[in-house]
Order: sequence, then C-alpha cells, then structure tokens
Amino acid sequence: MNQHPADLGGPLLAALDIGGTKIAGGLVDTRGTLLHRLQVPTPADGDRHVLMAAVGRVLDELSRLPDWHRVRALGIGSAGPVDIAAGTVSPINLPGWREFPLRAETAAHPAVRGLPIVLGGDAVAMTAAEHWRGAARPYRNALCLVVSTGVGAGLVLDGRLHTGTTGNAGHLGHISVDFEGRPCPCGSRGCVEGLASGTAIARTAAESGWRPGPDGDTTAAAVARAAKSGDPLALAAFDRAARALAAGIAATATLVELDVAVIGGGVATAGDVLFTPLARHLSSYATLPFTRDLALAPAQLATDAGLVGAAALARPTALGS
Ligand SMILES: [Zn+2]
Repeated sequence: MNQHPADLGGPLLAALDIGGTKIAGGLVDTRGTLLHRLQVPTPADGDRHVLMAAVGRVLDELSRLPDWHRVRALGIGSAGPVDIAAGTVSPINLPGWREFPLRAETAAHPAVRGLPIVLGGDAVAMTAAEHWRGAARPYRNALCLVVSTGVGAGLVLDGRLHTGTTGNAGHLGHISVDFEGRPCPCGSRGCVEGLASGTAIARTAAESGWRPGPDGDTTAAAVARAAKSGDPLALAAFDRAARALAAGIAATATLVELDVAVIGGGVATAGDVLFTPLARHLSSYATLPFTRDLALAPAQLATDAGLVGAAALARPTALGS
C-alpha cells in the first residue's frame, strides 16, 4: 500500500486521531506516507470508560497489523482543549472526558507499553502535518488554521512546531478581533471563532435575512453554495468571516513574523468564496512592510491530516531529533 521500497522494514509511527465523530488510527512511515488506516465511531455520549474502550479497540486493531513491530512512537491528536504538560484532554464535544489522563491511559494499553507517546491538540497536529507534507512545507514560519464548526490553529516558528507549555499556542480562534463584540463562550468577547467559524457564518447569514433553498439547509456549506451562485447576503456572510480571519492572521503576523497562513477545515473547502475576500482583507490589515509578503494557501492534506499530523507530533521523539 503506497509503500516505497526504501521504507520496507524501516521505523514507523503509530497515530491516533480522536474527534467528536470518529476515532481513527494509522501507521505512517518516516516519509509521512499513511500505510494503514482504520476508524471506529466515537461514542460521544459515553462516559470516560466507554470512550477509552473505543480508543482501545483501535489500538487492538492497529497492533494486530504485521507492521506493528516496526512502530517506534505513538502520536495522538485529540479534540481540545488539551494539556500536554499534564497529558490530559477535555474535548468540548466529549463530555465524558474532563481532564482525562489520555496519555497515561493509552500508555497502559498492552500493545503500547514502552512506546513513547506524544499528545497534541488536533489543530496543532494539522499544523505539524501541513509543515511536514503539505502547504506549509516550504516555509519556516507558518500559522495553520482549521476553520470548521470552530476555529483552531497552530504555529510553526523558525522551522519547528511551537506548541507552548500546555500545547495550545497559536489558538487564533480565541483571539479577540472585536473588543466590544459579542460575548464568547470562552469568557472573552469578539473572538475570531465567533465571527469566522462555520457556525458563525450560518448565524450571520440567518441574521441578515438570508433564507435557504428548498432543501432547507442552513449550514455554512449551504451558505457557501449560495455565495458561489452570487447571493449577496451569503457573500456578505463569508466576507465578514474572512475579515475576522484576516484581522487575526495579520495580528499574528505582526507578532511573530509569518511567511504563510495555511487555511484548512470544512469552511475552507468553500474555496474562492472564502479565499478571495480573505486575501483582500489581509492586504488591508497586514500593512507593515514585514507582513506584506505573507502568503495564503489552502491546506493540502484534507482527509489524512489528522493521522499524518499525529504521526508528525511523534516523529522527533521516534527519530531522536
Ligand atoms: Zn473566545
């Protein structure tokens, strides 16, 4: 399966991608090629034991693969918040896990015993994936965003993933770009997420008087389809989201000097409907000479980003670099 001859028998990375709807597992070679992939539905309403049992089933399956003996480290990308210092996760959409010791519980699985485990948030894992194999690869300083039901992000600085102590550095979704704006569930106001997520785009459209087609679909994907066909209210909803993202990206670029902003996630699949206003607004917010050349790129690793990213988190540990 997509195996390069030079990798036959070489070290592998195991990867877990834990989200609100699925728990995926995979084996990835040191070139970043996903060799095996499997997944189970996430028992999102389950308690801590039910959720961990689902993770255990994925590890059981992975460890039965003939290549398992080549695995040198396990990377875990999880829905957040995460605390990589404590080894815990508290995914918003998995209420059964609050400060759940995922790293220690995973380490206790019979197949995993002795393997180094590296934990990270899903957006940071996606950032690692895009820097390893995707759109951020040519760059030393990158901000990678996942714009979907929420807005997550991660940073690569000076060629290395910058996680921060707890693994949450670069969390652009909860940077305020409207300091007198709408209260955000995080406790702040006017956060990027509240203006630019898929949820926010759908709400902006509905509040402006946009009405769905005969199918009754009011999601951001439906708003994107309407925008593509020229609907002015749908276009305005995307323009507002793009403006919030541009303000947040420009602030980050001013703070740390970025070379590229990579945008992935479901909302980014809207394509030009998002990227055209985003580029325009970015040029009006990123105005200082050292921010003007910032590149904008769509993410490249759509479906595999979670697993490749989880493997990317573990790669330095496995290879001793
Ligand atoms: Zn917030």
